[in-house]
Amino acid sequence: MRLIMMGPPGAGKGTQADIMCEDMSIPHISTGDIFRANVTQGTALGIEAKRYMDAGEYVPDGVTNAMVRDRLAQPDCSTGFLLDGYPRTIEQVGELDSMLAAQGAGIDAVVELIVDIDEVVQRLVKRAVDQGRADDAEKVIRHRLEVFAEQTAPLTSLYASRGLLTQVSGMGDVDDVTARIHAALNSNA
Ligand code: AMP
Repeated sequence: MRLIMMGPPGAGKGTQADIMCEDMSIPHISTGDIFRANVTQGTALGIEAKRYMDAGEYVPDGVTNAMVRDRLAQPDCSTGFLLDGYPRTIEQVGELDSMLAAQGAGIDAVVELIVDIDEVVQRLVKRAVDQGRADDAEKVIRHRLEVFAEQTAPLTSLYASRGLLTQVSGMGDVDDVTARIHAALNSNA
């Protein structure tokens, strides 16, 4: 399975992606996690990415695409993967299309978690407190949601037009959301 998990920041993509990847034995590729690991390790990529992340902006497409291209070329991705937080721009969709075309592969499904925006802000503020994430301060959270609405939300209609989009409510208990995702993917299979 080659899957994409979409939804606004704080929708629970990472949590659900972890569970699904464990169930399906496929790698969980979170661009946010890869950027954060690079920030922690103080790599050149991390130093560049941190400026954008702290401001609630997207890391430039050139940097992000190169990083994903490298990751998808690794052997564990040859039979499947779940992308969490990528693609986020139209340009990234085009790049992903060409990476997959080169492997003669395609995306099987795009799962979009639908959430209430006030709940999302509450979740992110809580995460900022729990994890000390500088990019989750409330002003930055609002900005991240604006950037998402402008640049990423339109991608769902693009994937819908390809017949790949599955929308699932991301509200409520983690287990309930997981069950909804499984049901939605199975009904599409
Ligand atoms: P996330 O953990 O997915 O919310 O990502 C945290 C931050 O990493 C985002 O706010 C962006 O600054 C950056 N980031 C993650 N994925 C991407 C992407 N696909 N394109 C650009 N920036 C990204």
